[in-house]
Amino acid sequence: MPNPKRRFSKTRTKKKRTHYKATVPQIAVCSNCGTPVRYHRVCDACGYYRGKEAIQKAQTV
Ligand SMILES: [Zn+2]
Repeated sequence: MPNPKRRFSKTRTKKKRTHYKATVPQIAVCSNCGTPVRYHRVCDACGYYRGKEAIQKAQTV
C-alpha cells in the first residue's frame, strides 16, 4: 500500500517554525530588597513575592 512519506513537507514545517520566537524575560525590581527579579517569580534573594514572604530563605542566624 502506498503511504505518504511525511505529513507535512520540510518547507512547511520550517515555515511554521519561523514564527517560534525566543522571548526576552521581563525583569522587575524586588519591592523588598531591590534586586532584579523575573515577573511572577519569587525573589531569589529574599524569598518575597508581592510584598509577602513566600518562602523561607536561609538567614544569617
Ligand atoms: Zn527580594
